[in-house]
Amino acid sequence: MSRHVIVTGASRGIGAAIAQNFIDQGDNVVAFSRSGQAPTGCAKSLTVDVTDSKAVNEAVKAAIEEFGPVEVAVVNAGVTRDGLAMRMSDEQWRDVLSTNLDGAFYTARATMASMVRARSGSIIFIGSVSPFIGVPGQANYSAAKAGLVGLARSLAKEVASRSVTVNVVAPGLIDTDMTHDLGAAKDTMVAMIPLGHVGQPSDIAGVVGFLASNLARYITGAVIAVDGGLAIGL
Ligand code: NDP
Repeated sequence: MSRHVIVTGASRGIGAAIAQNFIDQGDNVVAFSRSGQAPTGCAKSLTVDVTDSKAVNEAVKAAIEEFGPVEVAVVNAGVTRDGLAMRMSDEQWRDVLSTNLDGAFYTARATMASMVRARSGSIIFIGSVSPFIGVPGQANYSAAKAGLVGLARSLAKEVASRSVTVNVVAPGLIDTDMTHDLGAAKDTMVAMIPLGHVGQPSDIAGVVGFLASNLARYITGAVIAVDGGLAIGL
């Protein structure tokens, strides 16, 4: 039976691959992004800036009216604005925290009510290995992604009695627009990856698909690295 799946940041990169994987399984995927772009086959594409809590609430409400209770929410929208902390502007800090952490909270809060009522559902946050390994120039991003882990673990305990699971997938270095301009730093990072190469968006989509499936019904509050071994032992 097709599920109602919301994916934020589904216009490209990892989010698009996640959306495509659910579409391939026959699910009704509602894609959120600022551009309103989405993979062909999405049931609906909505222009939503996740930093705007009112916009998120309205978009989730519209999706529920059309497709029923949300069964899976993949909280994926994210940005980077790297820079050394000593020179990082307030704007760089706020932009990254508001998209990657505030936006994640708004999306989870808006989607979890219908899951709790239905006594079933799965929320999957796309985190990062960045807070576990420490990446210079990513104080804002690492702080936001570390915050996601605390957020997910609190939510996991709040909704466990209603059979709703909440987990974090932590990608390593994945080949998307976000990592195209890393220059020489990319070669340095690849050299640190035990499997020896960057990952593809489909590598993340497969694990998200598993966590949203019945096979993963006993997994909650977990952080699963998908990183070629970059953060082994996290
Ligand atoms: P991309 O830059 O390729 O895509 C980012 C996506 O987020 C786009 O769909 C963009 O859509 C959307 N987005 C950004 N800001 C907003 C916003 N305010 N409201 C709604 N949508 C927004 O990034 P990736 O696919 O690489 O990253 C996806 C997730 O994976 C992010 O959370 C990222 O932090 C995480 N990640 C990525 C890694 C990598 O190596 N690529 C490694 C670790 C984690 P649009 O521009 O249309 O709004």
